[in-house]
Amino acid sequence: MKKIILSFLVLFIFLIPSLSKAQCGFDVVREKQLLDPTFVLQEQANELKIKNFIPPSNVTGKAGSVLTIPVVVHVLHKGEAVGSGTNISDAQIQSAIDRLNEVYRGLDPNSPLDFEIEFALAQRDPDCNATNGINRVLATGVAGYSANGVFMQSVGADENELKDLSKWPETDYCNIWIVSEIDNNGGGAGIQGYANFFNGNAYEGSVMMASVFGYDPGNTNGWGLNSNGDGGTVVHEFGHYFHLYHTFQGDDADSGPGYTAQCPGDAVVGTDSDGCSDTEIHKRLTSTCPTDNDCNGGSAYGINTRNNYMSYFSCTDRLTADQKTRVTAAMTGTSIVASKGALAPDPAYSAPVAVCATNSVSTGFSGITNVELNGTNFSSFSSSSDGGNIDNSASCSGYFEINADIANTINATVFPSNFQQLGVWIDWNDDGDFNDDAEQQHLSEDIAAGSIVPINITYPSTIPYDDYVRIRFITDTDNRHGSGTINSSCYASINHGQSEDYAIYVQPASGSAPVADFSASSTSVCLSNSITFTDSSTESPTSWLWNFGDGNSSTLQNPSHVYASAGTYTVTLTATNASGSDDEVKTNHITVNANPDLSSTSSSDETCTGNDGTATVTPSPVGSYTYSWNTAPAQTNATATGLSAATYNVTVTNTVTTCFASTDVVVNNGCLAGEPGPYFYNKYCNKTFQSNEYSVCTAISGATNYEFQLVDQNTGTPVASINRLGKNYFTLAMMSDWDYNTTYNVRVRAFVNSNWTDFGSTCSITTPSFPLPQIFGKYCSKIVTSSDYMVCTTVPNGTKYEFQLVDPVTSIPISSLERIGKNFFKLDQMSGWDYNTTYNIRVRAFVGSSWMQYGLDCSITTSPATIVSGDVVARLANINEVEEEIVPTSITIYPNPNQGEYLYVELSDLGKDAELIVVDVYGKQIHKEFLNTEESNYNTTVRFDQKLTSGFYLVTIISNGKSITKKLIVR
Ligand SMILES: [Zn+2]
Repeated sequence: MKKIILSFLVLFIFLIPSLSKAQCGFDVVREKQLLDPTFVLQEQANELKIKNFIPPSNVTGKAGSVLTIPVVVHVLHKGEAVGSGTNISDAQIQSAIDRLNEVYRGLDPNSPLDFEIEFALAQRDPDCNATNGINRVLATGVAGYSANGVFMQSVGADENELKDLSKWPETDYCNIWIVSEIDNNGGGAGIQGYANFFNGNAYEGSVMMASVFGYDPGNTNGWGLNSNGDGGTVVHEFGHYFHLYHTFQGDDADSGPGYTAQCPGDAVVGTDSDGCSDTEIHKRLTSTCPTDNDCNGGSAYGINTRNNYMSYFSCTDRLTADQKTRVTAAMTGTSIVASKGALAPDPAYSAPVAVCATNSVSTGFSGITNVELNGTNFSSFSSSSDGGNIDNSASCSGYFEINADIANTINATVFPSNFQQLGVWIDWNDDGDFNDDAEQQHLSEDIAAGSIVPINITYPSTIPYDDYVRIRFITDTDNRHGSGTINSSCYASINHGQSEDYAIYVQPASGSAPVADFSASSTSVCLSNSITFTDSSTESPTSWLWNFGDGNSSTLQNPSHVYASAGTYTVTLTATNASGSDDEVKTNHITVNANPDLSSTSSSDETCTGNDGTATVTPSPVGSYTYSWNTAPAQTNATATGLSAATYNVTVTNTVTTCFASTDVVVNNGCLAGEPGPYFYNKYCNKTFQSNEYSVCTAISGATNYEFQLVDQNTGTPVASINRLGKNYFTLAMMSDWDYNTTYNVRVRAFVNSNWTDFGSTCSITTPSFPLPQIFGKYCSKIVTSSDYMVCTTVPNGTKYEFQLVDPVTSIPISSLERIGKNFFKLDQMSGWDYNTTYNIRVRAFVGSSWMQYGLDCSITTSPATIVSGDVVARLANINEVEEEIVPTSITIYPNPNQGEYLYVELSDLGKDAELIVVDVYGKQIHKEFLNTEESNYNTTVRFDQKLTSGFYLVTIISNGKSITKKLIVR
């Protein structure tokens, strides 16, 4: 007899405790739903799972394993800006998530029990894109929503129509829909929200008002949340999501139109018990915090009950150990805790290719209710409750993973009623069918209802490591119930059952022997070059053995090797790990090219001519080469030329192999005695040289000395010569015995290897003209006073100088002065010139026995007499004697006053060469004469050329650059 069994959905409704209502929505809805036997069956199945789980060994085995719930929050707003009205802010959403984690991870001091449940906003969406887990959806298009919110009991938009706006797979995500209001309650009193037991069924999750979802005690953030922002509603609802009942479960056992509180019987979980032995039976007593429990004989409430989040009391702040056990038992092994929705998206994900579909039916007789592999579970139910066939293969948040190097077992649970049959296939090569190597995994019938069928995975010869493949389950009622017999992966005659497809990720191989491979830094090298070999073997080898093909080996992973001789070599790598080893042989992989043989070299000596040696290298074998000599500048031919005697290095490179070698070539000094000597470079010949100008000859390698000679062009007789140690140049100033302004032949020879070479070719030069004296330029073109010295250049061997003042227009000499051995003078020492007049000065020197020519004129202007006259008159009028210097120590002139015709002068302590000068009050020189003062005391009579006119005069004696002056009065 077939028994039709329908699955059903359990819906819980929570009425906020602080807002007193006569009846809890949970009971109202659940009483209605329990009229549907399929709801009853699913609830019974869950209770069976929880009951089987509860033995201590199972609970203990799960300790320390935190279950993560990927959460997606759909904000069904009405067009408000983010952060206002229904469109609550990210921060408010995050505060609710954080508060859930505080309570369920035992971080709130009042509820220190760690449920090892963690909530996380999704990081990958069902399409494998990155997400922050918050969807903002404009929901005003759903009829009734703008005016009344969602319908629960009286008025508003259809709940599922709202959820269809945004709904992620319930198996992989905990969907939370944020709504504006419920039953037109304005977001205030009434039902605050609700949640479903998690089963992975369509539309599961939680609906909560925007005014509830958040944690903001005391309204610190100004969100204006209900219940003073304590977040208790959110904690309560997720207790339901985790299969917790109210602590007062069954207090209205006498169901009917009205609610009549009774003490629960505490016998049947979900009927008159919450299934937790550490809570007391009680009546709901909404929004109070009672002291005594009249279901417990009137004794005081235990704190586990009175303060339990799953009650309706106003003083809730904790959950209990038995509640944790129920939660752990209910959620362990579910698809949502296996979901990867809380992980960042894996860009490598690619869904398996599509395959044929079975036929789809919708009955309550058959189905796959759970598939488990490596701890990952995907639960479902009958073909009718699953909506027909399931294809979950494209879900990047829900798939199995296997290590294909070890045995893996799939546990498929068939429907808990009727005998069943089951087929399982895996599309290993991802080609869109299940017909290939090892793709059929299982095919059987006569399976007892509710059996868990273990299927040991069979692997193909080529395992698709690091890839996603499809696994298909087909079930139907057994053929004893009139169904056909499943015989193919595309079975199209399913009577009551279904097919379910999932993806399996085959992890990269871990237990395989290596696949050896390697690369070389270069496969063609020159002899003596090092080659680095790099291991690129897969499967993580742990040891390596290299055979370089030349008798050498290495056990390094990435060795370097230098081949000792040219040739072609085969290289072998043996890579080994715990699972085995593999050889990679690369035949004739390495070519080692010889470097050029430079043993053949030659050279030619440098001759006495200099810089004419050569060096040659002849590489072998014959080929194409480039050359680089270290000459200056570098030469690039096989033969380097123009070399002096030295050792030269050449690098020769084969242009094909780029292999190279270097060698030295010696160029000897071949300059011998009697060979041609050095010669002057042309630019030093046939020209006039100044005495300090250098003349340079060719350098002879190894020359230790050079002899330069000036030769009389008429007689061929050397007139002057000089030896220069190691220096191939000289100046005329270094020689003596040559004449000015004369043309000589100049020649040079070098001392090499203990011998003088011959003189080289002759070169003609002319000596400079005789140097004429010249007033230094700094004295010229200036105004000159009578006491300013002017100095001329000295002339070699000049014994005296004659200075002349010349009329610049007529060139007629005005005055002249001869100075023995002195190349300077001042106007005081001359007569016959005028103040404020421009003259040319010229000077000539007396050399040997004759006067040489005058040098160039120098223009000067004498200073105006009036410049000094006022000062001098004043001085003469007020002093009797002006003594400027001590030498001579005394001067006596008389008679004074004088008649202007002659003057007696007595001097003492004179030096040689004293000079007497008489000037008038204008500074003009009236008389001058030299005094031949050999004696220490000296008397003389000065006779004036013309009788002096009456007035003041100064008589000055100058000696050794110092002077003494007396005032003379002429009457
Ligand atoms: Zn509730």
